Amino acid sequence: MVKRMTAQLEPQTILQAEQPSIPTLSVVVPVYNEEENIPLLYERLVAALDAQDLPYEIIAVDDGSKDRSFAMLRERALDDPRLRVVRFRRNFGQTAAFSAGFHYARGSTVVTIDADLQNDPDDIPLLLAKMAEGYDVVSGWRKQRQDPWFSRRLPSFIANRVISLVTGVHLHDYGCSLKAYRAEVVKNINLYGELHRFIPAIASWQGVAVTELPVRHYPRRAGRSKYGIGRTIRVILDLMTVRFLLSYSTRPMQIFGLIGILLTTLGGAISLYLGAIKLLFGAAIADRPLLLLGILLIVVGIQLLMMGLLGEIIVRAYYEGQRKPIYVVREEINGGPPFAS
Ligand code: UDP
Ligand code: MG
Repeated sequence: MVKRMTAQLEPQTILQAEQPSIPTLSVVVPVYNEEENIPLLYERLVAALDAQDLPYEIIAVDDGSKDRSFAMLRERALDDPRLRVVRFRRNFGQTAAFSAGFHYARGSTVVTIDADLQNDPDDIPLLLAKMAEGYDVVSGWRKQRQDPWFSRRLPSFIANRVISLVTGVHLHDYGCSLKAYRAEVVKNINLYGELHRFIPAIASWQGVAVTELPVRHYPRRAGRSKYGIGRTIRVILDLMTVRFLLSYSTRPMQIFGLIGILLTTLGGAISLYLGAIKLLFGAAIADRPLLLLGILLIVVGIQLLMMGLLGEIIVRAYYEGQRKPIYVVREEINGGPPFAS
């Protein structure tokens, strides 16, 4: 039963045009209901990338679009093997789309860009030049951001400050989709929720060199933004997760255990002292608040140790739980297995 179900969820059609040489650059584009933008997007991307003398691929991830986006991508992909299309069964969100793109990417450098042309494909060479200086992650900074002030720019300003403070990775614009990564960086990160924007922070923990570069930004030319102010809340909640991932997540025992040992030791010392004066000098200790404190410290200390242990077990289960995929692919064009992983 289970077997049959997984078999049904395999991509339906895998069309395969002849593959060009292995690309060094993979450009990942999440696409959700962007039919008006696809013709120009494709044209602009190809123009910008052709001008660079390096083999590339464009991986368009259709995140369950309900309009003609997929048909339009498909049409182009059948003529151009450098355009690879991954189609989701339903809308799984931008993070899942990036995650799929990273999985399929074969290049040693991966660039992400939005499909709505709010980012400028001509900025990609600038990102690549910055990467060539030796960075592992180059994050775009929409210095002159063309979005509404109150619903988008203000919350984003605050969020960027908070994220920088909490993660210790100082970027002006975490939310910018135009970013370049060395492939190893994105292939080693598990994404879910709204986590794609935190990749620079999560990656910093692998010890990579992160920098930012001002990029151009334009108002959306067609179609509607898929987000409103509600996203800010989800971003803040994800920030807590990231903080957790960046700090003691892997070793709860180290923090709970340490406090537990300190308290137990202190409680033990107090109890020993009281025991000694009782036994050696026959002092009355039953009415001393210190006795209560000593016993309390021992009990709380042991409980903290147990909590550390439980935390350790939960974290383990949590990491193992993450193996489940966050998206399901319906079909692939020019797909094929990713080479590096
Ligand atoms: N997107 C997606 N899945 C979603 C929402 C958005 O793949 O569920 C894509 C969308 O097509 C676009 C990019 O993510 O290419 C950014 O979306 P949008 O322009 O709506 O966000 P904004 O620029 O307003 O922050
Ligand atoms: Mg946009």
